[in-house]
This record gives sequence, structure tokens and C-alpha cells, in this order.
Amino acid sequence: MNLILMGLPGAGKGTQAEKIVEQYNIPHISTGDMFRAAIKNGTELGLKAKAFMDEGNLVPDEVTVGIVKERLSQDDCSDGFLLDGFPRTVAQASALEEMLASLDRKLDHVIYVQVPEEELFKRLTGRWICPTCGTAYHEVFNPPKENGKCDKDGSDLMQRDDDRPETVEKRLKVNMEQTQPLVDFYSEKGYLRDIDGNREIGNVFADIEDLLKGSRQ
Ligand code: ADP
Ligand code: ADP
Repeated sequence: MNLILMGLPGAGKGTQAEKIVEQYNIPHISTGDMFRAAIKNGTELGLKAKAFMDEGNLVPDEVTVGIVKERLSQDDCSDGFLLDGFPRTVAQASALEEMLASLDRKLDHVIYVQVPEEELFKRLTGRWICPTCGTAYHEVFNPPKENGKCDKDGSDLMQRDDDRPETVEKRLKVNMEQTQPLVDFYSEKGYLRDIDGNREIGNVFADIEDLLKGSRQ
């Protein structure tokens, strides 16, 4: 299964991605996670990406497309993949089409998780993540079992620098500008599947599962 999970920052992409890859055993490819890992490891990619991310801007297309191209060519992607947070621009989507064509692959679904803007703001400013495994929690909507600790590995949870209210506003604006053209792009190609993301995590996942089961009949 070749899937894209699309949605504005805070829509729940990472949260749903974790459940999808567990169920369908495909790699989770999150460009945001890849950039954060590169920053943590002090690599050249991390240096390139950091300034853009700190400002709430998108990392330039050529950098982002390059890392996805490399990742999709790895063996574990041969039976499918879940792209989370990529593509975010029409230029990235066009580059992805070319990559897939050269690998003789096609997309199955572009799952578009929709959540109203005011809800996204609350989700992002209350998000806490595990620096070890990347799991996202929310101080009110999805708290960990023990305050401040990851349920999976016990690490101390932290807030992302770009989840500060000023940066969140900028990210939402920047991403909103790019989203409609992308929605049009995938809708014209017949790949777009709308999911109402403004419900409990389990209910959103149930809808995604129904969609994916349907594709297998
Ligand atoms: P994205 O990857 O799209 O930015 P995340 O999966 O990190 O989004 O979720 C953003 C925040 O919202 C996190 O704090 C997460 O725990 C919380 N969250 C995710 N899905 C829901 C939901 N359906 N209802 C309420 N909060 C949610
Ligand atoms: P979220 O969906 O919660 O905003 P991500 O973890 O997907 O966060 O992305 C964090 C940041 O990484 C983005 O604000 C952007 O700077 C950069 N980034 C991630 N994916 C892309 C992409 N496809 N194109 C450009 N920049 C990206």
C-alpha cells in the first residue's frame, strides 16, 4: 500500500500514522521526524533545515525532495510506505509522481485529515513529544499515563520549539497557503480521501481503517 497522510500541522498525522504502520506493517516516512533527527545529530541536512523550521517556514523543496527520494529507494519501502507530511507543495507532489513512475509504483490513497483551525492551535500548543521515540501526547486531549513521561520508554517528554504560539500561527498560515493547491492536485487525480479529524483519536482511526479495508476488496 502506497499512502500519503495529509493535513495541516496538528491534524493528527503522526498520531494516526503510528497506528496505520502498526496495522499494515509499512514504513512511516515523516519528513518532519527526519529533519528533527538530522538536527539532533548535527548533520549538514540538519543545519540546512533548522533555520527554516525555527521560523515556521517550509524547508526548500529541493532539500525535502532529495531526502524523500533517498528514503523511498530503500528496500523496506518496496512493499509500500506511508508518507506523513510530504508532499506539502505542488512542486513536491510533482516530484513524487516522477519518483513513483521511475519505480513503476502508484499511489493508492491520499488521506486528508481535516480539523478546524482553532482546534489545531490548541492541539499544537498543548503537544508534548517523546524525544526518544517521537510519540506525541497532549496535555489535555491525550495525556501520558504518568505526568511528563513517555508511556513507551519512560523518557521525559518535551515541547517542540516550533510549537510556541507565535511559530504555530506562522506555520498554520504557511501551510494553509500550500494546502488548497495540493488538495486540487490530488482530487483531480482521484486519490483524495477526506477524513474528519475533529473527533477522538480512535474514531478517526476507525474511519481510516474502513477506507483501507475497502481498498483491499
Ligand atoms: P501532526 O503530526 O499532524 O502535526 P500530531 O499527531 O502530532 O499531529 O497531533 C498534534 C497534537 O494533537 C498532539 O498533541 C496529539 O496528541 C493531539 N491529537 C492528535 N489527534 C487528536 C485527536 N483526534 N483529538 C485530540 N487531540 C489529538
Ligand atoms: P507538523 O505537521 O506538526 O507541522 P512536521 O513534523 O511534519 O510538523 O514538520 C515540522 C517542520 O519540518 C515544518 O514546519 C517544516 O519546516 C519542515 N517540514 C516537514 N515536512 C516538510 C515538507 N514536506 N516540506 C517542507 N518542509 C517540511
